[in-house]
Amino acid sequence: MRYYLEVSGCQMNRLDAEILDGVLRRRGWERVRSPKECDVALFFACSVRRHAEEKIYSHIGSLKNIKQRNNLIVGLLGCTAQLEKENLFKRLEILDLVAGPGALRDVPDALIDLQNGAKELLLLGKENTSYDKLRRCDEAPFSAYVRVVSGCSRNCAYCVVPRARGRAIERPPEEVLCEVEALSKNGTKEVILIGQDVSAYSYNGYKLADLLRDALKIEGIVRFGFVTSHPTSVNERLFEVMASDERMSRYLHLPAQSGSDRILSLMRRNYTVKEYLETVNTARRIVPELELASDFIVGFPTETEEEFEASRRLIKECVFLNSFIFKYSERPNTLAALKLKDDVPAKEKQRRNIELLKTQEEASLLRKQRLIGQKVRVLVEGYDKKSKKKMTGRTWNNHIVVFEGEAKRGDVVLVEVERVTPLVAFGTVVC
Ligand code: SAH
Ligand code: SF4
Repeated sequence: MRYYLEVSGCQMNRLDAEILDGVLRRRGWERVRSPKECDVALFFACSVRRHAEEKIYSHIGSLKNIKQRNNLIVGLLGCTAQLEKENLFKRLEILDLVAGPGALRDVPDALIDLQNGAKELLLLGKENTSYDKLRRCDEAPFSAYVRVVSGCSRNCAYCVVPRARGRAIERPPEEVLCEVEALSKNGTKEVILIGQDVSAYSYNGYKLADLLRDALKIEGIVRFGFVTSHPTSVNERLFEVMASDERMSRYLHLPAQSGSDRILSLMRRNYTVKEYLETVNTARRIVPELELASDFIVGFPTETEEEFEASRRLIKECVFLNSFIFKYSERPNTLAALKLKDDVPAKEKQRRNIELLKTQEEASLLRKQRLIGQKVRVLVEGYDKKSKKKMTGRTWNNHIVVFEGEAKRGDVVLVEVERVTPLVAFGTVVC
């Protein structure tokens, strides 16, 4: 059996897809690069924004001719599957399988059933911490995501993730540490602990800071990171662990979402701009060389021009290394969809999006310029895709560096930075 697998969305979908990929290959299936050459085509879809969902629907719909020719089996998996359920079979006639994040372990058997004539299989489930046990640690990736929390127990008004993946469920620390150890033995160099609100991890009082301290006892992993943190669940203890060990990443993804207190309150984020800034200052005071990243939503219901400007000011004040900027998208049955009118016109959202991107680009350049003339520590990932002769990697605070000089994948080298763009620092290996 040959299968094609495509993923969109966040780290959770990516990890879910990686695990399924491993399971299918263990069963002797072969992954191919195009849906034209396969028996089964699987798509992990993201439900965070409507536009992304529609894109994947039309992409899947375009396989109609191939399906008729090859008897192709088509599956839609992940958050969108869990939320839209059987409606998807009506919307996309081409679909044979719809499976939510908590039902992925049943997908391989379902595919066999479909080959034997079953029709329109719907597998539902949100929580998927036990799915991690199927991970093939013998195929350790260079940089590995390791789930520590599935789902999310927050109530951000705009967000559909808690409905798609359920409430937060923490994995037991021994299980996480065992997975890290196995990955390390098989060659993984970087481990990134993931959760929607990873900094809130707490297993019978054992916190993310404790987990990181214990993970740092495992040899072989060169760098440990974690995403995504919520501004109300990070604390000094966590920052101290980040500062305590050379192997800890010095990069904190701390989505602010808005620079206006009124909008933050409507979003139900549970902090004010002042509190956010205090957290940023504490983090910077404790963690040397820290870089911060953020997410922003523009055009949230009732957002005024002035409130949008406040987001711009926040980017300027924090000088984030990068920000992911999203146009507000109304999602079914979220608090915002039920209570607020999506009243910022599409054109206006677009303008605010472009302007915020511009402001962020200026901030990114400022962060990069600080590196010129400095020697930075880089974990080498391999050859740069563009130039082929140069190599690329990232610093401990997540700057992308492209450089010349002797090095191979997995090495840690010192690179002297000569010039920069907002996204990349260029330089030469010094040792
Ligand atoms: N758990 C992570 C990621 C959530 S989704 C976190 O809390 O940071 C990633 C980002 O998508 C969010 O941070 C938010 O900026 C954006 N997002 C979520 N729902 C959205 C919506 N309905 N419209 C636009 N952007 C949204
Ligand atoms: Fe969504 Fe908020 Fe949970 Fe992030 S913290 S996944 S934005 S509900």
